Parts: sequence; C-alpha cells; structure tokens
Amino acid sequence: MRAQPTGSHYINGRFHDSPNGAELVSIFPATGEVIAKLNAADDETIELAMSMAESGQKIWAATPPLERGRVLQKAAAILREKNRELSVLETLDTGKPLQETLVADAASGADCLEYFGNLAGSLTGEHIDLGGSFAYTKREPLGVCVGIGAWNYPVQIACWKAAPALACGNAMVFKPSEVTPLTALRLAEALTEAGLPAGVFNVVQGFGDVGAKLIAHPKTAKVSLTGSVPTGSKVAALAGEHLKKITLELGGKSPLIVFEDADIENAVSAAINANFYSSGQICSNGTRVFVHSSIKQAFLKRLVERTGNAVLGDPLNEETNIGPLVSKPQLEKVLSYMRIGQDEGARLVCGGGAAEVATLHGGYFVQPTVFADVTDQMRIAREEIFGPVMSVLDFETEDEVLARANATEFGLAAGVFTKDIQRAHRVIDSLQAGTCWINTYNLTPIEMPFGGYKKSGVGRENGHAAIEYYSQIKSVYVEMNGVEAPF
Ligand code: NDP
Repeated sequence: MRAQPTGSHYINGRFHDSPNGAELVSIFPATGEVIAKLNAADDETIELAMSMAESGQKIWAATPPLERGRVLQKAAAILREKNRELSVLETLDTGKPLQETLVADAASGADCLEYFGNLAGSLTGEHIDLGGSFAYTKREPLGVCVGIGAWNYPVQIACWKAAPALACGNAMVFKPSEVTPLTALRLAEALTEAGLPAGVFNVVQGFGDVGAKLIAHPKTAKVSLTGSVPTGSKVAALAGEHLKKITLELGGKSPLIVFEDADIENAVSAAINANFYSSGQICSNGTRVFVHSSIKQAFLKRLVERTGNAVLGDPLNEETNIGPLVSKPQLEKVLSYMRIGQDEGARLVCGGGAAEVATLHGGYFVQPTVFADVTDQMRIAREEIFGPVMSVLDFETEDEVLARANATEFGLAAGVFTKDIQRAHRVIDSLQAGTCWINTYNLTPIEMPFGGYKKSGVGRENGHAAIEYYSQIKSVYVEMNGVEAPF
C-alpha cells in the first residue's frame, strides 16, 4: 500500500504543498522504515488555511443543519467503506495492530460522524416566558476552530474534534501530531467526497510551533487539543493570552480498583485492556491497578498466564495482539520507566524490557510488563508512562483505596470491579475522575461524554456534552409592550 499522500496538507477541498517547510516523516514503527515524507506548513500555508476556513465557515453556517448532518453521515459511510484501507494506513503510521485498527480507529471515527450527523438537525435553543414579553436563545457556531491531535488515535481524534465542530456549523483547521500525519488527510478527502463545501475542514501538518501559530491566529475562535499535560498547559496559557475558548483532553494515571468479591477473570481482562491495548498508549488507561490483598495472588497468577499468551509481532498480521510503540523516543521513555520500576524496588512479575521480533529489525517493540508490590510513592505509580507497563498495588479497605486512588494530580478515568452494587456506586461517587467504568474498563462509546477532572483536561468530547464546547448561546429579549424610560 502507498502511504505517501498526494500532498502534505489539505486546504480548501484539495491537497496543498509547502516545499520550503521543515521535513516531516512518517515511520512504520515495526521496522523504522520511512513510509512517507511531508513538509510542515510555512506561514503562507497557515494563512491560506485560516482564510479558506473563514470563507468556508460562512457557507457552512448558512447550510441547513439537516443538510450538514447528511454530509457527516455520508462521510461516515465512506470511512466504513474504506475501513480496511484506512486501518492498514493507521497501522503503518502508528504501529498499532491491524486487529485493533480494523475495529477501533476509522470505525470509531465513523460512529462519531454518524452520531453528530444525527444531532445536527436537532440543535435547538429555548423559549423563555417573561410574562407577556419573552426571550429566546439560539445556538450559534463559534467560527473557525483549531484541532490539534496526539499520535495514538490519529483518525479517531480528528473525527472526535471535527464531527461536533462541523455539526454546529463551524469550520476546522486540524493539525495532526507530527508523528502520525497520514489519516487526517484521508478524513479530509472523505468529507469532500461526502459534499462538504471547500474550506470547512482543512489539515495542516507541522510541529508544535505550527500548533502555537494556529492558536494565536486572529481568525481562530477555539482550540481543542488532545495531548500531554505539559503541552496542555502551554496551549491553555497561549489560548488565555488571546482569549480563545479551549477543550483540553490530556493525560492520566487512572486507578482500576478490584475488590475482593470481583469476578477475577473479568477483572484480569479489564486490566489487560487497560494497560496493553495499543501497547499501553491510551490516555485513559488504568495503570494503577489496586487489587485487594486477599485476591492478589490469584489475580497475578491469571494475569501472568494470560499475558504470556499475547501474540507480539508484526502489526500487519491480524493474529498479532501487541505491536511496537509509536516511535523511538517513546521506546526510550518506556524502557527507562521499566528500569526505574526495578530500581525503585517494585517486583517485576513479567516483561521488563525490549522485545525482539525475529522477522522485523529496527522495530520499537517492548514486552508487556507487570510490576507488583508497587507503592504510591514510586514514579511508576505517579507518572504517565504511555506504554505497556502495569503497576499492581495492594489495598485492604475501601476508604484507604479511595484516598490513594484520588491522590494524584490527574483525573481522567477510573474503574471499579465488585459484585456489590451499592459499593460500586458509592466508590464511583467518590472517585475524582471524568470518565468511570463499573465492571469493565476503557469503553468509550461516542454517546458517552469523555474528559478529565483536575489536570487531565478542560471540557468534554463526545455525547451531547460536546455541543456545549463547539457552540455559543445567543439570548434575545423580545419586548411585546412599550418601552418605559425614567425621563
Ligand atoms: P503532545 O502533548 O506531545 O502533543 C500533542 C499535540 O500538540 C501534537 O500535535 C503536538 O505537535 C502539539 N504541540 C506540541 N507543543 C505544542 C505547543 N506549544 N503549542 C501547540 N501545539 C503543540 O502529546 P503526544 O502527541 O505525545 O500524545 C501523548 C499524550 O496525549 C499523552 O499524554 C496522552 O495521555 C495524551 N492523550 C490524551 C487523550 C485524551 O483524550 N485525554 C487521548 C490521547 C492522548 P508535535 O506532534 O509536532 O509535537
């Protein structure tokens, strides 16, 4: 499959190049091979994208919402038709196993386009009775929104931002992560094919400096970032300086709490999904697995047995469960945490280092790794690793585990396993996290709002909640009587 796109950027309904922009390469993480070469946007390209978005937005905002919805639904159908091709491209760009990308990337992006396509025609305001006179509210678009993506779910992130923005009548300029530039361009093509007017969804490539220029641009009304907490803090500061609205989807160190009455097989499945899916490169991962001390041995035994069955290897092979990490810097970061865990005195239960794949050389593979006897002070229990490194911590009582689970600056997600329904809801009520699960983990259907408490984010994506962050309310007072004045 040819990964090289027709052009680096997609502006005003067509590909665009900026040959003088800094070189940006996409690498297949299973081999380290360069699969596409692109150029970062220069200032002229940024200006072009912003002005085309501004003109496109006017046309789009004047398009009846039902018609806007139809375009998004058609784009969803196109993504579904091209799911295999898009999944292979996402696997080449990210290294995630095809087994995952076939079901979790373009497919979830299509769900998102369909969901917000369905909502577009029903975005209404309200009527407020003032006793004779009345007021009404209108939900209006913000204008040109900037989307900035992380590298772990490139096409899904682009859809999670574009679909609600477009449903509300905004235009978007989207900057993918420099590490995974390819599939957002395919989304742009699909939207054009579905009938989206030129300029309404644009993709510009670049590094952090391009992101910063987009945020500060006078035509930008709003910025939505998916990325790390340090980047979120920079983006919020810059957006604050220019008074732009923001949505921030940031990192986490989420707790998964397994009580003594839990179904152990299900809890082990959840811990596996919460740490090893996408080689652990998921923001909402439950990387602090608190297991009641009375079931710790049984839990660890099954966890190690089942982790030993994981197929690690070529991500293009559909039998593969675990692919490489996304890049060399990410490989080095994850390996360093595997060493830190051992130096800190955590007990290495399995994994712990790089993995060799006989047929692939130069890939960024690591072993799925479990540390037990982890304590709250250890860095592996406090810092986001973003790799397949699970920390298992013991606990004795509900109050104790709640206090420890909440003792973090993050608050993205949390999960609890118990058969006691009252305890499940009581514990969830006390957990400081934006997205929670009872007796499962990491399911993020598009209907359910997603986002973080504390340093894990600002605002919500998905569900009806996302509409609040891509629209503004205009209040209109209608006088039905005369106007009184003091003189
Ligand atoms: P980064 O924070 O490094 O980058 C995110 C995006 O911001 C990239 O496109 C990056 O560009 C861009 N960027 C970097 N610096 C700036 C700046 N100063 N101004 C504007 N834009 C900038 O995150 P990663 O790509 O490494 O992704 C991993 C992180 O994302 C993890 O912390 C993870 O938890 C988080 N994440 C959060 C999710 C959520 O929904 N809560 C979901 C997925 C991931 P460039 O790539 O060129 O550096």
